[in-house]
Amino acid sequence: MPKDFLKDAQDEYDVVVIGSGLAGLTSANMLASNGYRVLLLEQHYKLGGMATWFKRPGGHVFDISLHGFPYGMVKSCRRYWTKEIADLIVPLENIRFDNPMFSLTTNFSREDFTKLLIEQFKVTPEAVEGFFVKARSMDFQDDQKLTTRELLDEFFPGREDVIRLLMEPITYANGSTLEDPAISYGIVFSNFMSKGVYTFEGGTDRLIGMMEAEMKKNGVDIRIRCDVEKIHCEGGQVQAVEVNGRKIKTRAVVSNANLKQTIFRLVGEKHFDRQFAEEAQAVRLNNSSTQVYMALNPGDLIEESTGDLLFSSTAPVFQTDLLLSRDITSRTFSFYYPRTRPESQPRCLIVSSTNANYDDWAHLPQDEYEASKQDLVETTLDALDKYVPNVRERIAHAEASTPKSFEHYTRHIAGASFGTKFEGLQVSFDLPKQIEGLYHAGSVGIIMSGWLGAMNYGRMVASDVDNLLMNKGSITSEEIAS
Ligand SMILES: Cc1cc2nc3c(=O)[nH]c(=O)nc-3n(C[C@H](O)[C@H](O)[C@H](O)COP(=O)(O)OP(=O)(O)OC[C@H]3O[C@@H](n4cnc5c(N)ncnc54)[C@H](O)[C@@H]3O)c2cc1C
Repeated sequence: MPKDFLKDAQDEYDVVVIGSGLAGLTSANMLASNGYRVLLLEQHYKLGGMATWFKRPGGHVFDISLHGFPYGMVKSCRRYWTKEIADLIVPLENIRFDNPMFSLTTNFSREDFTKLLIEQFKVTPEAVEGFFVKARSMDFQDDQKLTTRELLDEFFPGREDVIRLLMEPITYANGSTLEDPAISYGIVFSNFMSKGVYTFEGGTDRLIGMMEAEMKKNGVDIRIRCDVEKIHCEGGQVQAVEVNGRKIKTRAVVSNANLKQTIFRLVGEKHFDRQFAEEAQAVRLNNSSTQVYMALNPGDLIEESTGDLLFSSTAPVFQTDLLLSRDITSRTFSFYYPRTRPESQPRCLIVSSTNANYDDWAHLPQDEYEASKQDLVETTLDALDKYVPNVRERIAHAEASTPKSFEHYTRHIAGASFGTKFEGLQVSFDLPKQIEGLYHAGSVGIIMSGWLGAMNYGRMVASDVDNLLMNKGSITSEEIAS
């Protein structure tokens, strides 16, 4: 008999959270710690969504999306999770750039960037300061017509080298391009530019394990292998979710599934007014990516000056279509030294990431798909040899993932790495105005993407749900127990 992953689950909860990405986890944790009865449903066999890892024989553990996040994660983890989680956030020291225009190493702090721009790139201090101030002052209410290209041209006209330095990491961090609204660049750039780039000591497995323990402590009912098929709505209100053959009643749903999937597959277009449905249809997905995961033989250690993050490119200039092309010119290498997992056997792992178009991979016949993956591994090893000499002889394991892999594991349409483009944010915000009790939290609008954005969005939506349930006089588990 197949295992019942909903064994002993109740017939009704205050809130059902669909999906265990960082936004879903944070919402579930905050709502449960406020005393609500929370059911967390994840279709995969692991929690974490894109914040995940996998193991390979030989003791190799690869992180998928632990390349770097802004300092703001410390505050968010302390407030919405625990001090113990926040205390494991540590800085990355060496962020390297290597391309035909320049090669340099920085700690990615505002101070160091200012120095680089003035001394190496010979930009005036007024332009640098003006740019930082403008980027930092941007918020959601701003003019959304200004593009990132226009913003950068205002301060650094004709300086393609400066634009490359300022763009490459952010394009990598949230998929934003020169053609996107400047706000989607400005907010993320300023987040990173406060104190540099950070990582989680112990790896993603440790982080998600600690989060799971905290949720259990707070009473979240956590269920894996539970693929939600439908969100039932009636009279403009959420009623229940359908999952693994059961209908579970609830007053509120937080969907951490892809925004468009939530609207069109889980709820259904007929429940929304026409204008909203049209706006939701028009939301563009963000791009996807490919990655190559490589492990050196245990004990074979690389000098840490090789960099923690290395933005390498052979393209003569920074250009969005070049970044997405199958003919790869840009690779971001993440180097994981023994300090990533201090308690494990000392080893070095390297993950190469490149932004990619889903359509370049999705429709290949199986044999061509496999051959393309192998080709990706081979060309990446060739490119890496410049930074890790004789890498082919030193490699113990190498394999590639594609946009199809991300789609498969997280159900994101077209394997989108960072949810949707900017217009998705308003649609996501407006969901509860369409259907009472229906919320979306997760990578959306470029800004609410990445580990920090997703986590903060999860927290924000948890407050909205809290307000709704308080106003409706929800019965909390504390009240039931008393
Ligand atoms: C290759 C790559 C590298 C990245 N690197 C970084 C990085 O270095 N730093 C950074 O900050 N960010 C990075 N990101 C982005 C970051 O990982 C994501 O933005 C963030 O983790 C997304 O969180 P989320 O809450 O939106 O949910 P997701 O992680 O997208 O999770 C959604 C969850 O919902 C589940 N789900 C979907 N549908 C259903 C359903 N019907 N029923 C049940 N469950 C369902 C999925 O299985 C999944 O677990 C990277 C992303 C990728 C792909």
